Amino acid sequence: MYELTSVRTIKNIASKFGFTFSKGLGQNFLTDKRVLYKIVKAAEIKSGVLEIGPGFGVLTQELALLAEKVVTVEIDSRLVSVLEYTLADLNNVKIINEDIMKLDLKKVIEEEFRGEKISVAANLPYYITTPIITMLIESRLPIGNIVVMVQKEVADRMVAAPGTKDYGAISVMCQYYTKPEIVTIVPSSLFMPPPKVDSAVLRLKVCEKPNIEVSDEQLFFKIVKAAFSQRRKTLLNCLASAFPVGKQEISDNLVKIGISPSVRGETLGLSEFASITEAFSGLV
Ligand code: SAM
Repeated sequence: MYELTSVRTIKNIASKFGFTFSKGLGQNFLTDKRVLYKIVKAAEIKSGVLEIGPGFGVLTQELALLAEKVVTVEIDSRLVSVLEYTLADLNNVKIINEDIMKLDLKKVIEEEFRGEKISVAANLPYYITTPIITMLIESRLPIGNIVVMVQKEVADRMVAAPGTKDYGAISVMCQYYTKPEIVTIVPSSLFMPPPKVDSAVLRLKVCEKPNIEVSDEQLFFKIVKAAFSQRRKTLLNCLASAFPVGKQEISDNLVKIGISPSVRGETLGLSEFASITEAFSGLV
């Protein structure tokens, strides 16, 4: 196996294949073994693993040692021949040259993993972190565990508690579907080339069913979005701007469920958003 965390090896391979790093594709390669092992451990690999953005295959190698099969999806066609070279010794890796956001993931899981529950592991390209995580979580596909390297500030937002500065609609979405946890913080110096900001390994344990029961999920997320839409405004004003319902009626309904109309959305937890959803389901 190639020592792909070694800067010298990365430089040698890059020069062998005439490869130059694309900033636009978020190509910052991990150069630290301990972080690599932490990602693999946190992924709790059972049998199948989906990797997003293998780069030269540094994480792919480690995943393939533990998994029955690894399917790795790389958008950059220049990397296909590099990966065929670095992963030549591994017979349980399938490389798909595609944009993860365009891939039919349901079909891939059915065809490559017999529809069984998989883990997702990735050092994500930063320009598209949140859309990828949202897509994975909302897909409701058989994914048990998502372990991803993301910008530290994104990880902070996903684990944030109500009332804190990082808490927002994305925190609610993550905490509705998963149990999010920061595994470790990773300084930018451990990447080649180093990105501008520090990173974090984030683990999202996908729950069998959402962490709170709501009768109308679409309405729940519409309320969450509205509550965070204007941070300086009260909950009442945010909801009144988003729904065609009179202020007095909204206010009465909030009071009825014990929520002050003058609170700010960022102080509300999952259960309060669920209560508002039930109170609103007859109104809108
Ligand atoms: N896994 C390697 C590592 O840990 O060193 C590389 C990680 S690098 C941060 C992100 C990788 O994702 C790059 O290889 C990049 O080409 C790839 N990538 C970027 N956008 C992608 C997309 N939409 N779909 C699939 N791969 C993508």
